[in-house]
Amino acid sequence: MCRTIRARTIADPRAAGKFVLFRKKPSIRRELLKIDGQLLEVKVRLNPRARRMIVKVNPATGEVCITVRSQRGLPAALDFARGETDWIANQIAKVPKPMPLVPGASVPLRGVSHEIRAAAKGPAPVWCADGVIWVRGEAAHAPRRVLDFLKREARKTFEARALQHAERLGVKPARITVRDTSSRWGSCSSARSLSFAWRLILTPDSVLDYVVAHEVAHIRQMNHSPRFWAEVKKLVPDIAAPQRWLRVHGRDLQRYGLS
Ligand SMILES: [Zn+2]
Repeated sequence: MCRTIRARTIADPRAAGKFVLFRKKPSIRRELLKIDGQLLEVKVRLNPRARRMIVKVNPATGEVCITVRSQRGLPAALDFARGETDWIANQIAKVPKPMPLVPGASVPLRGVSHEIRAAAKGPAPVWCADGVIWVRGEAAHAPRRVLDFLKREARKTFEARALQHAERLGVKPARITVRDTSSRWGSCSSARSLSFAWRLILTPDSVLDYVVAHEVAHIRQMNHSPRFWAEVKKLVPDIAAPQRWLRVHGRDLQRYGLS
């Protein structure tokens, strides 16, 4: 499942009707673009397979990326991006401010607000009790410890939910991993390997459960056909509400992390 990153595109006339004989990895370079009177470094991907020039703003980081087919198309792509600076500035303004995992901050663990508090002593480096995430030890290490704790919670929870869903569909995931990705909530490989973004542990249970069910259902159907959705519906009763929740709130969760 992917989260759509809003993008502006224009057709690249040189891309029409051409065959790509071999697949080449896109090469990446940096260019400067003036936005709101300030020079901004943008990433330029040269990708011979690209059919369009694409300008993207990463909703989590605000990084601007331009994809262009060839070196020759670069000036046109930069011109195009210059014409879109209002749109780019707007997208960057929407990037959520980072929320470091320090004592005093709150995180929505499984969709429920939990305050992070420093503890002088306790049963573990980090533990959760009555809506509080307690963290022991030196203040400088608190964010890393809380992050590790959240990732552990994520892995445990995703694993339990995935195994339960998999059993109902009569399938077996090969591997379940937790990643730091900001562009996808989950994925399923053809080798039945499931992967989830750790920030999914910050969503309400119904949303988390839907994403896990979605990826488990991909073991049966590696597509988004009606047959695939029928599998998902066997696992979760409501699909529309969690999808809407992710569209509305998903971007905001990207601010939780180390910086
Ligand atoms: Zn999917």
